[in-house]
Amino acid sequence: RLEIENLHCAFGGVEVVQGISLTVEGGDVLCLLGPSGCGKSTTLRTIAGLEDISSGEIRIDGQVVTRGGYTLPPEHRGVGLIFQDFALFPHLTVAENISYGLRASRSEKAHRVDELLERVHLSHHRQSYAHELSGGEQQRVALARALAPRPRVMLMDEPFSGLDNRLRDGIRDHTLQVLKDEDTAVVLVTHEPEEAMRMADQIALMRNGSIVQQGAPYNIYNSPADRAAAAFFSDIN
Ligand code: ATP
Ligand code: MG
Repeated sequence: RLEIENLHCAFGGVEVVQGISLTVEGGDVLCLLGPSGCGKSTTLRTIAGLEDISSGEIRIDGQVVTRGGYTLPPEHRGVGLIFQDFALFPHLTVAENISYGLRASRSEKAHRVDELLERVHLSHHRQSYAHELSGGEQQRVALARALAPRPRVMLMDEPFSGLDNRLRDGIRDHTLQVLKDEDTAVVLVTHEPEEAMRMADQIALMRNGSIVQQGAPYNIYNSPADRAAAAFFSDIN
């Protein structure tokens, strides 16, 4: 469970996150949706511990990980991260990429890697290298790698934007299923309303560093808070 209270974050005196509050339960997907530059990635980075905040509080499973003056290092937060470019290690095999961040015995690691390879349908690629995989396969390796240590919170920044249009919906659905099986709280950043409608349990609509509306996808779609929100959703059919 992820809880954010009144989060503020600034760069050189300019506030780009202006008092965001939200809660995501384990097993739920919250989509941070909004136009370019509204502060989505910055919000995600503060949750990961990669960005300092000016004020507010972030808790993961009840534990304070960020509060004015205190910040738990990223590697101790129990968060998994997936970025747009997947950032796989090119010199490691698929199996090695997945087990990279795992601190466990050899047999436990092997077991977890097998389990995840099966779940993302890549058992036949365990000895392959990133350059031998398609975009969708690389995305699945990134997903398996991020899930390997059983993170409490999964953070995904536009994880589908680099993928082939024809494959994207299938990969979204499969990703969602894998995430649900792991029971992780997920924050998914996107600027595509269609993606948020498809994947979210909750949508938080962002503009200029603030959340302008938050709720279930169909509530937001059917009753947008204002004209700009309506316009944002208008090109979905
Ligand atoms: P996009 O959809 O284009 O990825 P975003 O919603 O993720 O946009 P952010 O990357 O969070 O937007 O950026 C929000 C604002 O903060 C932007 O105006 C950006 O220029 C600014 N910003 C982000 N990172 C930094 C930084 N390290 N230093 C200074 N300004 C920054
Ligand atoms: Mg961004």
